[in-house]
Amino acid sequence: MPDAREPLPTVRATPPTADRARLLASWALAADAIDELELAAALMDEAGLPATETASRRAGIAYLRGTPQETVRILGELGMTAVPAEGPQRIEHVLLLGAQAATGDHPAFARLVALGGSIPAEHRAWFLYVLAVAAERCGRLEIADDAWRSLAVDVGVSSSLVLSRFLSGWVAGRDTRDADRAMSQVLQAAQALRSASPRPWQDASTMRRTVEALDLRGDSAGAALLTAAVGRTSPPDPRLAELAACYRPEVRRAPVVVPVVVAAVATLVAAVPGLAAGVALVIMLRSRWRAVPSLSMTDERVWFGLGAMRFDARKVQEGASQQVRSLVVVLVLGGALLAVLASVGLWSAAQEVWPDVPLLVQVAIWLVPVVVLPAVGGALGQWLLRDADLRALRRRDAEHDRQIVAEARRCACWEVASLIGPRADAYVAVHLRPVSGPDMEVSTAGRAATVFACPLSGVRWLATTAESGVSTLLLRGTAAPSAFDGAQQPIGTGGYL
Ligand SMILES: [Zn+2]
Repeated sequence: MPDAREPLPTVRATPPTADRARLLASWALAADAIDELELAAALMDEAGLPATETASRRAGIAYLRGTPQETVRILGELGMTAVPAEGPQRIEHVLLLGAQAATGDHPAFARLVALGGSIPAEHRAWFLYVLAVAAERCGRLEIADDAWRSLAVDVGVSSSLVLSRFLSGWVAGRDTRDADRAMSQVLQAAQALRSASPRPWQDASTMRRTVEALDLRGDSAGAALLTAAVGRTSPPDPRLAELAACYRPEVRRAPVVVPVVVAAVATLVAAVPGLAAGVALVIMLRSRWRAVPSLSMTDERVWFGLGAMRFDARKVQEGASQQVRSLVVVLVLGGALLAVLASVGLWSAAQEVWPDVPLLVQVAIWLVPVVVLPAVGGALGQWLLRDADLRALRRRDAEHDRQIVAEARRCACWEVASLIGPRADAYVAVHLRPVSGPDMEVSTAGRAATVFACPLSGVRWLATTAESGVSTLLLRGTAAPSAFDGAQQPIGTGGYL
């Protein structure tokens, strides 16, 4: 991560005009609001505003970038070197407390936690950021997890940073005893990633950050389960496959196959006592001879549960998978009926061509179709259902993506401060117009950037690439000063004014 103090390359030799400085500062604010920290820092430097005006924001960016010493230094520029004994008087004091805590000052962390009840509502989101980062640095992951969850769920922040931290905490906190609950929690995280824009197969960076955060806190099992859960219900994607391969645990076949084969042989040799002994053997060996030694027993059940699941994750969450799936039942019964007909047919044919049929062949003629055909029917039914569910899921996703393009036709410049991924691409393609001129050249931390403007309001948008390097990022800025000079008069007010 580059040092925030490094001078950033610029394309201008002249100082920025007031409009340009305001524009760059507004883009920096939009980048900061979605935790595009490097970009926000670069735009703020480019704006060339007086250091005292930007110090607070720069200190916050340095804090989130994991350099609390830099935060302390920048706040020192503002004359803030200590938090008043009676408590923080300004939001910067809270940040200073967080930076002190993040550098290992435990009494400062205790003061920060104690502040929670008295933070005004308008500063709550900022306090949660400060608390989450300080708690992470102090090793208080349970507090960090709760703070990130509150940011994502209560405040509604959906940046890649917040979403990845929240979901890694969510997966790490999965049930350690109940495999069904644990699976449901992993699937909820996978669904949250799938619903995000851009989706994991369009830009895997949030997914990557989530599993890296899990790995960092020592939960590589959680990372394996989450990559598997997302992979099951996503279109094939090389980046997702690569990520899944990174975390896939070693699965041994022998502990699954050998006990079942031994049980089957025991059943053939000793009928019911053999079956009982075989089942006891399978149960006994399951916890001692592990198929996935790197996972706990609960996680292993979740792993195999996810492996068997190739259909709509939402149905599992809603408990619909427990419903009797009539197609499977019909196909099993159909297989059984076919088996009886096949056995009768085979039996009569065998008697005609081979009058002295040996006992073993007689048993095979009756037993094999009766066992095999219903099993084939059941497997076929499952496959058809999973395939249909998966198709329905992808249809919904495609419909959602079409909706995004349709919505891009409406002006949302009054409503949203940033757009990312397909929404940004659609907005550029459908709504915005390019703006050219030497004054519109911007350097954005080494990323290509183009300026667009809204044809209605004149609001200028900066189109660049998100931190992932994959998705388009649009940041809303101020309107051009001359934007309203030639604006068309509205065609009547419709009687509302
Ligand atoms: Zn617009």
